[in-house]
Amino acid sequence: MGAKKKFVYYFGDGKAEGTGDMKNLLGGKGAGLAEMTNLRISVPAGFTITTEACVEYYKNGKKYPPGMWEEALQALKRVERSMGMKFGDPANPLLVSVRSGARASMPGMMDTVLNVGLTTKTVEGLAAKTRNERFAQDSYRRFVTMFGSIVMGVSREHFEEILNHKKADLGVTQDTHLDAKALRELVVSFKELIKHDTGRDFPDDPIEQLRMATNAVFSSWYGARAITYRKLYSIPDTWGTAVNVVAMVFGNMGDTSGTGVSFTRDPATGEARFFGECLMNAQGEDVVAGIRTPLPVTQLAKLLPAAYRDLETTYTRLEKHYRDMLDLEFTIQEGKLYMLQTRVGKRTGIAAVRIAVDMVKEGVISKEEAVRRVEPDHLSQYLYPIFDMAEESKRSPLGKGLPAGPGAAAGKIALTPERAVDMQAAGQRVVLVRQETSPDDIHGMNAALGFLTARGGMTSHAAVVARQMGKVCVAGCDAVEVENNQTVRIGNKVFREGDFLSINGSTGNVYDGDIPVVASEVIQVLEGKLQPAKSEKYQRFETILKWADEIRALKVRSNADVPDQARIARGFGAEGIGLCRTEHMFFAEDRISIMQKMILARTAEDRERYLDQLLPLQRQDFLGLYREMKGYPVTIRLLDPPLHEFLPRREELMVEIAKLELTGATPSILDEKRALLARVEELHEFNPMLGLRGCRLGITMPEITRMQVRAIMEAACEIAKEGKKIVPEIMIPLVGMVSEMKAQKDLVREVAQDTMKRAGVKLNYLVGTMIELPRAAVTAGSIAQEAEFFSFGTNDLTQTTFGFSRDDAAKFVGIYKEQKILDSDPFAVLDREGVGEMIKLAIGAGRQTRPDIKLGICGEHGGDPSSIEFCHQMGLHYVSCSPYRVPIARLAAAHAALASASDAKAAAKPKGSNPRKPAAKSKARSSAKGRSARR
Ligand code: PEP
Ligand code: MG
Repeated sequence: MGAKKKFVYYFGDGKAEGTGDMKNLLGGKGAGLAEMTNLRISVPAGFTITTEACVEYYKNGKKYPPGMWEEALQALKRVERSMGMKFGDPANPLLVSVRSGARASMPGMMDTVLNVGLTTKTVEGLAAKTRNERFAQDSYRRFVTMFGSIVMGVSREHFEEILNHKKADLGVTQDTHLDAKALRELVVSFKELIKHDTGRDFPDDPIEQLRMATNAVFSSWYGARAITYRKLYSIPDTWGTAVNVVAMVFGNMGDTSGTGVSFTRDPATGEARFFGECLMNAQGEDVVAGIRTPLPVTQLAKLLPAAYRDLETTYTRLEKHYRDMLDLEFTIQEGKLYMLQTRVGKRTGIAAVRIAVDMVKEGVISKEEAVRRVEPDHLSQYLYPIFDMAEESKRSPLGKGLPAGPGAAAGKIALTPERAVDMQAAGQRVVLVRQETSPDDIHGMNAALGFLTARGGMTSHAAVVARQMGKVCVAGCDAVEVENNQTVRIGNKVFREGDFLSINGSTGNVYDGDIPVVASEVIQVLEGKLQPAKSEKYQRFETILKWADEIRALKVRSNADVPDQARIARGFGAEGIGLCRTEHMFFAEDRISIMQKMILARTAEDRERYLDQLLPLQRQDFLGLYREMKGYPVTIRLLDPPLHEFLPRREELMVEIAKLELTGATPSILDEKRALLARVEELHEFNPMLGLRGCRLGITMPEITRMQVRAIMEAACEIAKEGKKIVPEIMIPLVGMVSEMKAQKDLVREVAQDTMKRAGVKLNYLVGTMIELPRAAVTAGSIAQEAEFFSFGTNDLTQTTFGFSRDDAAKFVGIYKEQKILDSDPFAVLDREGVGEMIKLAIGAGRQTRPDIKLGICGEHGGDPSSIEFCHQMGLHYVSCSPYRVPIARLAAAHAALASASDAKAAAKPKGSNPRKPAAKSKARSSAKGRSARR
């Protein structure tokens, strides 16, 4: 038989059986209490019942594991000795708090009971000992309320009602105005209430109280709040909670007592100042309940200077010991300070960066540690306007959609793109609300601060455009019903165009009204509106990213279609353009009509005529991109979308024609519209995403490819003539067969050679393809014979691998996630098991054919931290993402490098323990090294 399992860990008198690194077993609170005790910081004695005991309690059908309760009672004896008091002793009673404490902090999600051990006898002892009858009775009525509601399940409101009646009867408004007699009477009424509601007497045996409170804490692990919280933060049900039983110290023993919650640095801004709140003559629950307004913790310096000095020394020691910002709970009993909790404090993204950077400067942590401590998504708070947090927290959302474009936008509702343009021109802030958006909404999208759509997923048109333009977007919000061009119902409210609406693209929440927005200093610096030297925020943001750059192996490029986006991307540190979607250039006002004429043309010659008009415009576009990217590579994709996207919608045209017929419009206009309708009908496809698009366009209409390649190369020659570096990368979309690739590549080469000859310039350029179809991945070995680079188009690759329409999947992906059929939206987080295998296969085969093949990713996953980690593991050369995600990708790439380095270290350590694993890891590492060398 193995050694008997230990279920209870004692702490007290400067020594604890546990330590700070036993979080899994003792929970966060238990580990913190043990660590502080070992540091000889003033902590009341107590013990922790382990998380394993909780797990076994559930396994055994809610029975304690053998030996646990006996161990707890022995530890209680030690607490009695340490505190010089006895549990249940009427002359000198020890009281305890019974608190939950899981591995991960779950603030307020589980239960706590204070003052356990108060009985009809001990309450008199407490009064005599403290010579404070009122204090004893107040503690007792608090205990009966807390125990009655949490442990025995009586509604808290019933206690409140009785309390309020009492106050009204006596003509007082504050609890503190109730005297001992009134409190004693309240306890009697509370006990009657409990008997009435539960049929049980209030327990008067302290050990029975302790047992019931312990059970209640165990049970709160499966309380509704805790279950929801665990789901939200992916905390496994199997962890269980620890129970901490700690000798009570009293913050409500008069004016030299108090209690408080504080942070060693400001958790909102990260500023290195002691920050927090305290309440004099109060218990912890008063702070949480918010009935009395707390004082800033620094006020203690005046009120209780000696205790405050102790607190300062303690928090400084603790922060130095933990080397991080901490959150602390303390109580002062008659001038003496006791620490009740410490843990690493939660913080905003803004604070996370500041604390990490400051701590490196203070010599407390390394740069590597600082990078590790900042979550990539923390950086979002530096990039986007955000709602004033206090204001947002006061409102409840009308609905929730997908957080598709981060940031906060508040403005007047526009229901059509045209209205959005007009309203913006009139100086108004606009939120565009649509059923869904399409490429021809682009002018309205440009005019709006943010978009809200009723339909669409994370890679829907609205979502992709928002991220690329840096706009706020909430997509696929079920609560939105666009009723007509004048009204929209959101939740249970009907809005008219011009009403105020606020959307949070980081959470997906939609609010009524105009919530104040705070602008981003980083963006102001990038736009030249603020001097970098004047913005400490910008400087810290830059610093953490510089440190990340020293660590990462992956390059980070940006998806950008126009020079403005490229400039933002460069400002954020993009090392090239990984995807220029040329079709977006054709939606500009001066192009769309030429484009439409080109599509309507019946012959290649006619098409060429219009393409000739587009050529100089395209050349200008590319020149602009090349100039912004200053020698960094620029990948330009040839035309990809189905042509109908450039034409008006069939239904809208039909309505327009009917109206023209009714109003007797001139025949020439009518004929033009009818011809357009006929062509729209001809181009109509049942499944356009799998129709005439991608390289199929360039193959069936080679004149389009010719024009685009000419524009790409003419612009490049012009740059080369200026003596500047340029290596264009021409990308063929939606290739499934090597023969398609060859056909387009031959055409590209022919036009490129001809253009260079005419310009008298010779320059390097690459021709490659996107891998975005399963067939391309499976036959990547052959495709690599023709392609000089692969860029994984994981939006389409996800769509075609799963057979999920990227524009419609939001309808069921949410349900799939709820039912645990999917862990996450595969259009947001790369599916390693399926799509990832395709990528792996393509990389292996591609490299076999062409060992130096350049590899990148340009689907939306290129900006997602988990997907970036996968790209690092696969040995890609770069990720490409929307401009505003570039900083996030830089940091995520550094995290990926740190994670694989520590994996490799861990694998190298235990020699012979698992011979296969270390081999696999070290291989991954050497390929990462090889990658850096090649670049
Ligand atoms: C892709 O499919 O991943 C891609 C980048 O192309 P698009 O989103 O333009 O189809
Ligand atoms: Mg694609």
